Amino acid sequence: MALFVILMGVQGSGKGEQARFMQEAYGIPQVSTGDLFRAMKTREDEFARGVQQTMAEGKLIDDATTNEIVRQRLSEADAQAGAIFDGYPRTPDQAAWLDQYLASKGEKIAAVLLLDIDLFTAFKRAFGRVSSKAGVSYNLYSKNSGVSFEWVEHPGSNHPPRLKAVVTATGEELNRRPDDAHAHAIIKRIDTFIETTAPLIAYYESKGLVKRVPADQPIAGVSDAIRAILDAAAQAR
Ligand code: AMP
Repeated sequence: MALFVILMGVQGSGKGEQARFMQEAYGIPQVSTGDLFRAMKTREDEFARGVQQTMAEGKLIDDATTNEIVRQRLSEADAQAGAIFDGYPRTPDQAAWLDQYLASKGEKIAAVLLLDIDLFTAFKRAFGRVSSKAGVSYNLYSKNSGVSFEWVEHPGSNHPPRLKAVVTATGEELNRRPDDAHAHAIIKRIDTFIETTAPLIAYYESKGLVKRVPADQPIAGVSDAIRAILDAAAQAR
Protein backbone atom coordinates (compact mmCIF):
# COMPACT_ATOMS: atom_id res chain seq x y z
CA MET A 1 0.00 0.00 0.00
CA ALA A 2 1.13 3.51 -0.77
CA LEU A 3 1.74 6.25 1.80
CA PHE A 4 -0.52 9.30 1.49
CA VAL A 5 0.02 11.94 4.15
CA ILE A 6 -1.52 15.36 4.69
CA LEU A 7 0.78 17.97 6.21
CA MET A 8 -0.81 20.93 7.97
CA GLY A 9 0.80 23.77 9.83
CA VAL A 10 0.67 27.51 10.16
CA GLN A 11 3.40 29.60 8.53
CA GLY A 12 6.45 29.35 10.80
CA SER A 13 5.66 25.80 11.93
CA GLY A 14 8.49 24.32 9.81
CA LYS A 15 6.28 22.60 7.24
CA GLY A 16 8.79 23.04 4.41
CA GLU A 17 11.61 21.36 6.37
CA GLN A 18 9.43 18.41 7.33
CA ALA A 19 8.11 17.94 3.80
CA ARG A 20 11.73 17.72 2.62
CA PHE A 21 12.49 15.20 5.35
CA MET A 22 9.55 12.97 4.36
CA GLN A 23 10.38 13.15 0.66
CA GLU A 24 13.85 11.84 1.40
CA ALA A 25 12.92 9.32 4.08
CA TYR A 26 9.93 7.80 2.28
CA GLY A 27 10.66 8.54 -1.39
CA ILE A 28 7.30 10.21 -1.99
CA PRO A 29 6.80 13.62 -3.59
CA GLN A 30 5.41 16.73 -1.97
CA VAL A 31 2.21 17.73 -3.76
CA SER A 32 1.63 21.42 -3.13
CA THR A 33 -1.41 22.79 -4.94
CA GLY A 34 -0.04 26.34 -4.45
CA ASP A 35 3.14 25.29 -6.33
CA LEU A 36 1.10 23.53 -9.04
CA PHE A 37 -1.00 26.65 -9.60
CA ARG A 38 2.05 28.93 -9.53
CA ALA A 39 3.69 26.71 -12.17
CA MET A 40 0.85 27.65 -14.55
CA LYS A 41 2.19 31.23 -14.63
CA THR A 42 4.05 30.61 -17.85
CA ARG A 43 0.91 29.35 -19.64
CA GLU A 44 -0.91 31.79 -21.87
CA ASP A 45 -4.33 30.12 -22.16
CA GLU A 46 -7.48 31.61 -20.68
CA PHE A 47 -7.85 28.93 -18.04
CA ALA A 48 -4.33 29.50 -16.66
CA ARG A 49 -4.88 33.26 -16.71
CA GLY A 50 -8.09 32.81 -14.71
CA VAL A 51 -6.16 30.80 -12.11
CA GLN A 52 -3.49 33.52 -11.79
CA GLN A 53 -6.17 36.17 -11.41
CA THR A 54 -7.90 34.25 -8.59
CA MET A 55 -4.58 33.67 -6.82
CA ALA A 56 -3.64 37.34 -7.12
CA GLU A 57 -6.91 38.24 -5.39
CA GLY A 58 -5.96 35.91 -2.55
CA LYS A 59 -9.05 33.77 -3.15
CA LEU A 60 -9.31 30.00 -3.36
CA ILE A 61 -9.47 28.28 -6.74
CA ASP A 62 -12.74 26.35 -7.14
CA ASP A 63 -12.85 22.78 -5.87
CA ALA A 64 -13.41 21.08 -9.24
CA THR A 65 -10.31 22.74 -10.76
CA THR A 66 -8.22 22.06 -7.68
CA ASN A 67 -9.23 18.40 -7.50
CA GLU A 68 -8.52 17.95 -11.20
CA ILE A 69 -4.99 19.34 -10.87
CA VAL A 70 -4.40 16.95 -7.96
CA ARG A 71 -5.84 14.02 -9.95
CA GLN A 72 -3.42 14.77 -12.79
CA ARG A 73 -0.48 15.10 -10.39
CA LEU A 74 -1.31 11.82 -8.65
CA SER A 75 -1.40 9.97 -11.96
CA GLU A 76 2.31 10.72 -12.51
CA ALA A 77 4.82 7.93 -11.97
CA ASP A 78 6.53 9.37 -8.89
CA ALA A 79 3.25 9.56 -6.96
CA GLN A 80 2.39 5.86 -7.22
CA ALA A 81 4.08 5.09 -3.88
CA GLY A 82 2.23 7.95 -2.19
CA ALA A 83 2.42 11.69 -1.66
CA ILE A 84 2.70 14.44 0.94
CA PHE A 85 -0.16 16.90 0.48
CA ASP A 86 0.71 20.50 1.30
CA GLY A 87 -1.95 23.21 1.07
CA TYR A 88 -4.48 20.57 0.02
CA PRO A 89 -7.22 19.79 0.89
CA ARG A 90 -8.34 23.30 1.87
CA THR A 91 -12.12 22.67 1.93
CA PRO A 92 -14.30 19.79 3.21
CA ASP A 93 -15.42 19.11 -0.39
CA GLN A 94 -11.79 18.68 -1.47
CA ALA A 95 -11.23 16.33 1.48
CA ALA A 96 -14.28 14.25 0.54
CA TRP A 97 -13.18 14.12 -3.10
CA LEU A 98 -9.66 13.00 -2.12
CA ASP A 99 -11.02 10.20 0.10
CA GLN A 100 -13.23 8.94 -2.68
CA TYR A 101 -10.46 9.23 -5.28
CA LEU A 102 -7.94 7.32 -3.16
CA ALA A 103 -10.59 4.68 -2.32
CA SER A 104 -11.15 4.13 -6.05
CA LYS A 105 -7.44 3.16 -6.23
CA GLY A 106 -7.64 0.96 -3.13
CA GLU A 107 -5.73 3.59 -1.14
CA LYS A 108 -6.43 5.94 1.76
CA ILE A 109 -4.90 8.72 3.85
CA ALA A 110 -2.45 7.24 6.38
CA ALA A 111 -2.24 10.28 8.64
CA VAL A 112 -2.94 13.99 8.89
CA LEU A 113 0.11 15.56 10.50
CA LEU A 114 -0.70 18.78 12.28
CA LEU A 115 2.46 20.69 13.18
CA ASP A 116 1.42 22.13 16.48
CA ILE A 117 3.02 25.37 17.51
CA ASP A 118 2.10 28.14 19.88
CA LEU A 119 0.73 30.87 17.63
CA PHE A 120 2.73 33.61 19.31
CA THR A 121 5.90 31.60 18.61
CA ALA A 122 4.80 31.23 14.97
CA PHE A 123 4.25 34.98 14.84
CA LYS A 124 7.72 35.71 16.19
CA ARG A 125 9.34 33.27 13.74
CA ALA A 126 7.81 35.18 10.84
CA PHE A 127 8.04 38.72 12.22
CA GLY A 128 11.65 38.39 13.40
CA ARG A 129 13.23 36.46 10.53
CA VAL A 130 15.90 37.88 8.24
CA SER A 131 18.27 36.14 5.88
CA SER A 132 21.60 36.65 4.15
CA LYS A 133 22.18 36.56 0.39
CA ALA A 134 23.62 33.07 0.85
CA GLY A 135 20.36 31.94 2.45
CA VAL A 136 21.49 31.80 6.10
CA SER A 137 18.62 32.83 8.34
CA TYR A 138 18.60 34.62 11.67
CA ASN A 139 15.87 35.78 13.98
CA LEU A 140 15.45 38.83 16.14
CA TYR A 141 13.93 36.71 18.92
CA SER A 142 15.90 33.47 18.76
CA LYS A 143 18.93 33.07 16.48
CA ASN A 144 20.33 36.57 16.95
CA SER A 145 23.96 36.32 18.03
CA GLY A 146 26.47 38.02 15.74
CA VAL A 147 23.78 40.26 14.27
CA SER A 148 23.01 43.79 15.30
CA PHE A 149 19.31 44.69 15.10
CA GLU A 150 17.89 48.17 15.03
CA TRP A 151 14.39 49.59 14.48
CA VAL A 152 14.61 52.51 12.07
CA GLU A 153 11.69 54.96 12.15
CA HIS A 154 10.08 55.61 8.78
CA PRO A 155 10.39 59.31 7.84
CA GLY A 156 7.02 60.78 8.67
CA SER A 157 6.08 57.52 10.41
CA ASN A 158 3.76 56.54 7.54
CA HIS A 159 4.93 52.95 7.77
CA PRO A 160 5.98 50.74 10.66
CA PRO A 161 9.63 51.13 11.69
CA ARG A 162 12.01 49.11 9.50
CA LEU A 163 13.98 46.29 11.09
CA LYS A 164 17.61 46.81 10.11
CA ALA A 165 19.78 43.75 10.70
CA VAL A 166 23.51 43.72 10.01
CA VAL A 167 25.99 40.86 10.44
CA THR A 168 28.50 42.35 12.85
CA ALA A 169 31.54 40.51 11.43
CA THR A 170 30.98 41.27 7.72
CA GLY A 171 28.73 44.33 7.66
CA GLU A 172 26.25 42.50 5.38
CA GLU A 173 22.75 43.91 5.74
CA LEU A 174 20.25 41.08 6.01
CA ASN A 175 17.04 40.86 4.05
CA ARG A 176 13.54 40.75 5.51
CA ARG A 177 10.64 39.45 3.40
CA PRO A 178 8.20 42.32 2.73
CA ASP A 179 5.22 40.16 3.75
CA ASP A 180 6.84 39.63 7.17
CA ALA A 181 7.27 43.35 7.83
CA HIS A 182 3.67 44.11 8.77
CA ALA A 183 2.45 42.52 11.98
CA HIS A 184 -1.15 42.69 10.83
CA ALA A 185 -0.36 40.78 7.60
CA ILE A 186 1.20 37.94 9.61
CA ILE A 187 -1.76 37.89 11.98
CA LYS A 188 -4.10 37.76 8.97
CA ARG A 189 -2.23 34.71 7.61
CA ILE A 190 -2.49 33.02 11.00
CA ASP A 191 -6.22 33.84 11.18
CA THR A 192 -6.82 32.45 7.70
CA PHE A 193 -4.99 29.28 8.63
CA ILE A 194 -7.15 28.79 11.73
CA GLU A 195 -10.36 29.49 9.82
CA THR A 196 -9.65 27.21 6.87
CA THR A 197 -8.14 24.30 8.76
CA ALA A 198 -10.68 24.10 11.61
CA PRO A 199 -13.40 22.32 9.56
CA LEU A 200 -10.80 20.02 7.99
CA ILE A 201 -9.30 19.09 11.32
CA ALA A 202 -12.82 18.25 12.55
CA TYR A 203 -13.40 16.12 9.42
CA TYR A 204 -10.19 14.11 9.85
CA GLU A 205 -10.54 14.01 13.64
CA SER A 206 -13.81 12.13 13.12
CA LYS A 207 -11.83 9.53 11.18
CA GLY A 208 -9.15 9.30 13.89
CA LEU A 209 -6.45 10.47 11.47
CA VAL A 210 -5.19 13.68 13.08
CA LYS A 211 -1.77 13.40 14.68
CA ARG A 212 -0.54 16.48 16.49
CA VAL A 213 3.23 16.90 16.30
CA PRO A 214 4.84 19.35 18.74
CA ALA A 215 6.66 21.71 16.36
CA ASP A 216 8.22 24.08 18.88
CA GLN A 217 11.43 22.01 19.09
CA PRO A 218 14.52 21.48 16.91
CA ILE A 219 13.84 20.27 13.34
CA ALA A 220 15.34 16.82 13.99
CA GLY A 221 13.02 16.28 16.97
CA VAL A 222 9.97 17.06 14.83
CA SER A 223 11.23 14.66 12.13
CA ASP A 224 11.71 11.89 14.70
CA ALA A 225 8.14 12.38 15.94
CA ILE A 226 6.83 12.22 12.35
CA ARG A 227 8.82 9.07 11.65
CA ALA A 228 7.33 7.38 14.73
CA ILE A 229 3.79 8.30 13.65
CA LEU A 230 4.24 7.14 10.05
CA ASP A 231 5.96 3.92 11.06
CA ALA A 232 3.07 3.15 13.43
CA ALA A 233 0.57 3.98 10.67
CA ALA A 234 2.40 1.66 8.27
CA GLN A 235 2.30 -1.18 10.81
CA ALA A 236 -1.42 -0.71 11.43
CA ARG A 237 -2.18 -1.29 7.74
P1 AMP B 1 -0.34 28.50 -1.12
O1 AMP B 1 1.01 28.62 -1.72
O2 AMP B 1 -0.64 27.12 -0.62
O3 AMP B 1 -0.63 29.54 -0.09
O4 AMP B 1 -1.39 28.75 -2.30
C1 AMP B 1 -1.38 29.93 -3.07
C2 AMP B 1 -2.75 30.15 -3.75
O5 AMP B 1 -3.06 29.04 -4.59
C3 AMP B 1 -3.92 30.24 -2.79
O6 AMP B 1 -4.08 31.54 -2.28
C4 AMP B 1 -5.08 29.84 -3.69
O7 AMP B 1 -5.44 30.88 -4.57
C5 AMP B 1 -4.45 28.74 -4.52
N1 AMP B 1 -4.60 27.42 -3.86
C6 AMP B 1 -3.59 26.62 -3.37
N2 AMP B 1 -4.07 25.48 -2.85
C7 AMP B 1 -5.42 25.54 -3.00
C8 AMP B 1 -6.49 24.66 -2.65
N3 AMP B 1 -6.26 23.48 -2.03
N4 AMP B 1 -7.75 25.04 -2.96
C9 AMP B 1 -8.00 26.22 -3.58
N5 AMP B 1 -7.04 27.10 -3.93
C10 AMP B 1 -5.75 26.77 -3.64
